[in-house]
Amino acid sequence: MTFDFDFFVIGGGSGGVRAARMAAQRGVRVALAEVADLGGTCVNAGCIPKKLYSYAAHYAEAFAEAPGYGWTLPAAPTFDWDTLKANRAREIGRLNDIYLQLLQGAGVTVLRGGAQLAGGNAVTVNGQRHTARHILVATGGQPFVPEVAGRELAITSEQMFDLDPFPRRLLVVGGGYIACEMASIFNALGSKVTLVQRGPRLLGGFDTDAAAFVASEMGKAGVDVQLNASIATLASQGDGCVRATLGGGTQIDADAVLYATGRRPNTAGIGLEEAGVKLDDKGAILVDAHFRTSAPGIHALGDVSTRLQLTPVALAEAMVLVDELFGPRPGKAARSMDYDFVPSAVFTHPNLGTVGYTEEAARQAFGEVTVFRTDFKPLKHTLSGSAERVFMKLVVETKTDRVIGLHMVGADAGEIVQGFAVAMRAGATKAVFDSTIGIHPTAAEEFVTMREPSPTA
Ligand code: NDP
Repeated sequence: MTFDFDFFVIGGGSGGVRAARMAAQRGVRVALAEVADLGGTCVNAGCIPKKLYSYAAHYAEAFAEAPGYGWTLPAAPTFDWDTLKANRAREIGRLNDIYLQLLQGAGVTVLRGGAQLAGGNAVTVNGQRHTARHILVATGGQPFVPEVAGRELAITSEQMFDLDPFPRRLLVVGGGYIACEMASIFNALGSKVTLVQRGPRLLGGFDTDAAAFVASEMGKAGVDVQLNASIATLASQGDGCVRATLGGGTQIDADAVLYATGRRPNTAGIGLEEAGVKLDDKGAILVDAHFRTSAPGIHALGDVSTRLQLTPVALAEAMVLVDELFGPRPGKAARSMDYDFVPSAVFTHPNLGTVGYTEEAARQAFGEVTVFRTDFKPLKHTLSGSAERVFMKLVVETKTDRVIGLHMVGADAGEIVQGFAVAMRAGATKAVFDSTIGIHPTAAEEFVTMREPSPTA
């Protein structure tokens, strides 16, 4: 049987673009369909604009800290939200163009429009039918907002980047990555931020100590963190003001109410059910270790499938799939996917960086563990006047001495943890950490000078 394409990718986000480009570089005929801007959530409404806004927010801290180092600012710095929005939009537009050029440069046929599976090896885009030997669904996810009275007044992370006007008062609902990052960023940019989380802690799934430290630092920085609290109703008060009434009756007025209550896979309107593609109980496409769905010839990866919702994970999955379908790069072995020791960072102020097991998960998986903890005032803040502190924690499997969990809350934790992730994937033991010479004076050197185990709780 002959096909129009060897590989048809539905979705031009991180995973889809990488898969299409890598496949085309193997010399096969590739098409990619995308209904929105190329780059997906990460480029357009996630990682990249979020990090740009986080940089913007860090300037506020730098201005506040500068006098301690002898700087006199001629006047109180002012922040222009419209300038930041316009500069971000320009940069994102540039990235959208680069994605298009990369795809076209690799020989990928880029189709603009929504794609539907049309049975067997066929896909339709804008009413036109295309056939392909292999199909990849990489349609990503979208924010989820639970049922609540006045739900239409809530906004999601996708609207945060272009809010007009700047929210003087921001209410954030949720306590995960997005809620904590947005709360930190808008707090530093000048909003009065209240964060309402239904449970007893922030950042579920992260190490308990590290998450508590983030909550405490966010509180010190000015975010009003309310735990064990939930929204009963949202009601418009006119003039853009939304009044949230909490379960206990407390009322909070805000100019914007951000629901950051998780994300759901984009599986509607693609014809998945008709094509025989099964979803799991969370609505994500069910795939095996080779990214095969229950329908022959149809694959899925990234946020629409069942794995970790992180851009670098989707990129790695894409490269593994391309190796599997079209062979590895010349002279290289086929790549395989390993979800162990995937590092990640939450770009709160200060950041949380993490790799490996939380203390709780390590105890369950390995039994006896030895824990090393420290928290301290970083050198920078001896003169800056900032009360921000750094937290570090190592979790070591007692039997083997292997470092299986590393957690940091502090400036640039994301940058620091990336390097340690390599050591941990290589199986570094605590003895190897101890024998590593520190770089002085840095915060990171504390990871190689933690001598005394912390008492267990
Ligand atoms: P998360 O799953 O991280 O957090 C969702 C939060 O919303 C949790 O605090 C959860 O509470 C709460 N919640 C869930 N349902 C409800 C509800 N019905 N009512 C009230 N609260 C609710 O999701 P995010 O939206 O923050 O992020 C989605 C994913 O995107 C992340 O898991 C991550 O993989 C990815 N991401 C990664 C980033 C990075 O790498 N820096 C940045 C942003 C996103 P509870 O804890 O009680 O369950």
